[in-house]
Amino acid sequence: MNRYSRQILFSGIGAEGQQRLRDAKVVIIGCGALGTAQAEALARAGVGHLRIVDRDFVEASNLQRQTMFTEQDAADRFPKVIAAANHINELNSEITVEPEILDVNHSNVERLVKDCDLVLDGTDNFATRYLINDACVKHHVSWIYGAAVGSYGVSMTIRPNETACLRCIFEEAPPAASAPTCDTAGVIMPIISVVAAVQVSEALKLLTGHVDQLHNSLMQFDVWNNEWRKIKAGGPLAECATCGVRQFQTLEPVASEFAAVLCGRNAVQISPTVPAKINFTQLAERLGAAGEVKFNDYLLRFQAGEYELTIFQDARSIIRGTNEITTARSLYAKYIGN
Ligand SMILES: [Zn+2]
Repeated sequence: MNRYSRQILFSGIGAEGQQRLRDAKVVIIGCGALGTAQAEALARAGVGHLRIVDRDFVEASNLQRQTMFTEQDAADRFPKVIAAANHINELNSEITVEPEILDVNHSNVERLVKDCDLVLDGTDNFATRYLINDACVKHHVSWIYGAAVGSYGVSMTIRPNETACLRCIFEEAPPAASAPTCDTAGVIMPIISVVAAVQVSEALKLLTGHVDQLHNSLMQFDVWNNEWRKIKAGGPLAECATCGVRQFQTLEPVASEFAAVLCGRNAVQISPTVPAKINFTQLAERLGAAGEVKFNDYLLRFQAGEYELTIFQDARSIIRGTNEITTARSLYAKYIGN
């Protein structure tokens, strides 16, 4: 246990807490900036089993903030979870890492979360967070929400039946294209470190049985504008569709089937489940930094490298340059955001 001696000395953990970490199974959904920071911290802390889920490959533009990846991973275009598993095996060979190259959706999210002690949010979109929320509330698994864009970040710890869930706080996902994403507004490394640190601290408290130490709030941080806010999150709402009424809407195939391959066109159509009315002027301003944008009253066209995104006013989008739903969803989450 020598490698954990400093952590065992810490009174909040101790030898018993260390053993609990060793016995724990944690799922990290999304292996980008937040996910790699969480995975590295939990691996070093000695969490015995880590399942890491992501649909993407490592790219050069990830290296500024996704701390586990190297230039070689980007050159090899390794799946993020494989690159992460390789690096974790080098930094702690005593633990088990289970990489899953997957687009998380209604058909697999329950399998991913139901046999574990805790889920950490490392995703970049609300659609996946509502899936995690539904699956975790349904199977009584705690999860820790986290998000960062620009210099702003947010986190909340959700314990089904004990605390408010994501839907208690935000009844619906924000409409598509209503908020900046890391691919339109950028993101700086320090806010990732802050959000991941808060998520990992909460994880250590939960896994070692110190629920009395949890922050019980929606924490908001802006490391550029120097604002730190803590809004009390409260308990579960009886009228909440997810944790009160127990209707797990996103786990139904119909509600989540919003992507379709357009046969013979090398294109995929994405239709958001939440209706939206997009302001093209604002969206064009945000996307302008990331590529070429043209729009008229009816649609906006955006060139992202080899892909062309056509976005309609109701937020439906046709993504040309791929037949892969996973790639299309990923591009939608990156540039349009929902
Ligand atoms: Zn709720």
